[in-house]
Amino acid sequence: MQSFLDIQPHFREAGLDTREVRHAQVVQRLSKLPQMFAVTPLGQSVEGRTIYGVQAGQGATRVLLWSQMHGDESTATRTLFDLFNFLSASDDYDGWRRQVAAQLTLCIIPMLNPDGAEQNRRENACLIDINRDARRCATPEGRILRDRITAFAPHFSFNLHDQESYYSAGVSRTPATIAFLAPPADREESIPDHRRRAMQLVVRLARKLQPAIPNGVAKWNDAYEPRAFGEWSQAQQSATLLVEAGGYYRDPQREFVRRIYFGLLLDALSAIATRDYAAEPVEPYFAIPGNRENGLFDTLQRQQRLVVCGATYVADVGFRKGERFVGDFETFGSLDGKD
Ligand SMILES: [Zn+2]
Repeated sequence: MQSFLDIQPHFREAGLDTREVRHAQVVQRLSKLPQMFAVTPLGQSVEGRTIYGVQAGQGATRVLLWSQMHGDESTATRTLFDLFNFLSASDDYDGWRRQVAAQLTLCIIPMLNPDGAEQNRRENACLIDINRDARRCATPEGRILRDRITAFAPHFSFNLHDQESYYSAGVSRTPATIAFLAPPADREESIPDHRRRAMQLVVRLARKLQPAIPNGVAKWNDAYEPRAFGEWSQAQQSATLLVEAGGYYRDPQREFVRRIYFGLLLDALSAIATRDYAAEPVEPYFAIPGNRENGLFDTLQRQQRLVVCGATYVADVGFRKGERFVGDFETFGSLDGKD
């Protein structure tokens, strides 16, 4: 994992430097991908923007990855272009590339919600959250994803998102820089073999990320949400992982987190190609701390003296994007620094 993190700057796609990524930036880059990538239009969004799939590799194990089904969640999209740069390069990792290409067939949808991306908004142009449309498939974007899952029949699926920066990993001051979930496939939250494989992969990735982001991996809320595509995909017997990019200290554009995301995707592809994930125990999955809502502030100033009506009070003062909170935030942390 560390070696992947070290090399990411070398493969970092230029021009995707901020959290707002538009359809035109994706289309322009897809048109320049090398021939090893088969770029196919999969359909159109509500406003007529073309949604593309990118296929690579010749292996028997099929892996589907989709990003930005929420239009304002671009970290994975940016990372996928770093991944394309890495996969099409030639260097000391050529043996790795040959093995992955021989074992895996990748299908990648690098922006499922281009209309939402255009507005930097979560929902599509009809104000529907595509990730709550897995059953009805009222949206063309949802139908495109459902049809791709059905036709491609992936053994593994990666549902790639961003989460807000203010989650901490459990009751700690550490930001939940990455959150995972192996979504349940049914209301009973049963663990069939394919979901177990997803859990094993999460266990491996969480352990491998520990040196880079100590205690910075959390687990997304695992309550059954039948309208979400992760649950639907898991129910189609594809080992499905939800991956959420979260906050990190002094990283408002998520460039550090993009690097982490790059490392975890490459390590996941390695583990699937070699089947190394199968050696992981499943129990540590349940010990991953949950996302704790509102555990952090952008800046937290402790024990400030507040003078109100002539009297002095001592309180912590927290700030989030212009909002101000006053209180006792003893167990809360700050994204501004490591205190
Ligand atoms: Zn999302």
